[in-house]
Amino acid sequence: MFAIAIHGGAGTLPRSETTPEQQALYHAGLNAALDAGYAVLERGGTSLDAAQAAVVVLEDDPLFNAGRGAVLTRDGVAELDASIMDGRTQAAGAVTGLRHIRNPIVLARAVMDRSPHVMLVGSGAEEFARGQGIEPVSNEYFRTPIRQSQLHRLLAGSVEKQNDLVAFGTVGAVALDAHGNVAAATSTGGMTGKRWGRVGDSPIVGAGTYASNAGCAVSATGHGEYFIRTVLAHDISAQVEYLKIPLAQATANVLAKMKALGGNGGVVAIDPQGEIALDFNSEGMFRGVRSSAGRNEVAIYR
Ligand code: ASP
Repeated sequence: MFAIAIHGGAGTLPRSETTPEQQALYHAGLNAALDAGYAVLERGGTSLDAAQAAVVVLEDDPLFNAGRGAVLTRDGVAELDASIMDGRTQAAGAVTGLRHIRNPIVLARAVMDRSPHVMLVGSGAEEFARGQGIEPVSNEYFRTPIRQSQLHRLLAGSVEKQNDLVAFGTVGAVALDAHGNVAAATSTGGMTGKRWGRVGDSPIVGAGTYASNAGCAVSATGHGEYFIRTVLAHDISAQVEYLKIPLAQATANVLAKMKALGGNGGVVAIDPQGEIALDFNSEGMFRGVRSSAGRNEVAIYR
């Protein structure tokens, strides 16, 4: 059994405000990411490579809040975070505050594989990237007119709360390979209008990303502050590992706990037995799943 589950963020527009054409574009983007990740699994590749391949496709797609098309900080720049984790070894790599790396997930992987550290920040991370032969791109590359207008609306006060904005477009993937190992990867531009070097949950191991063969692999999207406070991804894996409860119950437990604090968002998760959860407490979550058992779905709303 092998499988991949992905998300493209939990901050969807209300169903009534999206056209079938817009929805079709998102479906196509999600399918392209599933294609890339599933192809790795089909040829016997690792869950780590599959999760990374899917996330690279979503980073390159300007529809999603990661890589090109990332949301903008209050100063109008893209500042990117990502992390990746191997459930077999619990090795992890994370990067935050990047401004010039086309595919942050590729750099997170390099941190994991080729540095003695787990998390690198900003200019240091970009210096490490240069040493790894990862060429910088201009910050312009990431900025799209839609993200610029979202920032203007936020600064003009025409958006009530951060939650009302289409801000949660973070991307992520979890996979189980034919060798029985799980992995997780997450990449994001964070939240529109963020300041002061704000770091969300996505690059924080245990919050937005976690993987352990003893529990499960998780990638999250939503209001990152709540995911950090609830150590959400790790909590799901720990419940599976220690309480021996089904994955779906563990994800429901932690999302309920987070909602009680006022947070919203969702997760994709997979365990070594091939149980898959795609759960959220927001109106929708861009998501998809494909498995050797025959599942093949993409969806936005409930
Ligand atoms: N979780 C991300 C963050 O807070 C945002 C998102 O999921 O879109 O940085």
